[in-house]
Amino acid sequence: MSRTVYVNGEYLPEEEARVSVFDRGFLFADGVYEVTSVLDGRLIDFPGHAERLSRSLRELEMESPVTDEQLLDIHRELVRVNGIEEGMVYLQVTRGVADRDFAWGAEGEPTIVLFTQSKPGLADNPKAREGMKVISIADRRWGRRDIKTVQLLYPSMAKMAARKAGADDAWMVEDGFVTEGTSNNAYIVTGGRIVTRHLGEEILHGITRAAVLRVARDLQMEVEERPFTLEEARAADEAFVTSASTFVMPVVEIDGASVGEGRPGPVAARLREVYLDEMRAAAI
Ligand code: PLP
Repeated sequence: MSRTVYVNGEYLPEEEARVSVFDRGFLFADGVYEVTSVLDGRLIDFPGHAERLSRSLRELEMESPVTDEQLLDIHRELVRVNGIEEGMVYLQVTRGVADRDFAWGAEGEPTIVLFTQSKPGLADNPKAREGMKVISIADRRWGRRDIKTVQLLYPSMAKMAARKAGADDAWMVEDGFVTEGTSNNAYIVTGGRIVTRHLGEEILHGITRAAVLRVARDLQMEVEERPFTLEEARAADEAFVTSASTFVMPVVEIDGASVGEGRPGPVAARLREVYLDEMRAAAI
């Protein structure tokens, strides 16, 4: 069955949705995005995603084509018409259409596109019981990773390198320290503490990261926000990642070597459980 998608003010069957070849999102990756999960037909942490979208737009001197209230309505309407119980809503805003020129300023209205992805079993993911395998790879992305732009070619290349190596994902390393996964934030548990890289321009400020660290602190777990090395990660008791679509996902292998006992650990399991409970309760 064809999905209904949203393009510039219209709800359309996906086959009829169109964006110009002159769109700067297409020509320059001049656009930003968000992915919000849906559980029980409701949106997980929508305010966090709306806030980060505003920040990404502001950093790129782009206008939002809609208010937060309109954005929420569009998300809910797409979830409703497409009958999404578990899945995601993808949102992209680009600078819009202009004759090709590196300088911006001549474009018209921003382009806004939203679509849903149905993912039954998103929360009851078997990977959460098995754990993920990651490889390490040099971080060759640009320097403003705190802006959630659609220029995702290097993370795609890193993901493919992981696949070819028989792993699930790649942890990117810069100046000897892990930055993050291809589409998630990275954590280790060592010396009784949860360690994850501090916020800065080197990583995306994960919405799930913020919520999971809040949960960890509420559970009286100790959190250290600082860079960590691969050596530290390999010697850690546990490792895990967080993202809007994987929630809290244990990592059991790094570059072929087991982390801890090579099984998902108790800290990741507890954080996943409490995070999911709290987020379901607050979903809108
Ligand atoms: N880091 C990167 C590079 C990402 O692409 C993502 C999500 O797409 C994340 C971290 C996790 O962010 P969030 O928890 O907001 O999904």
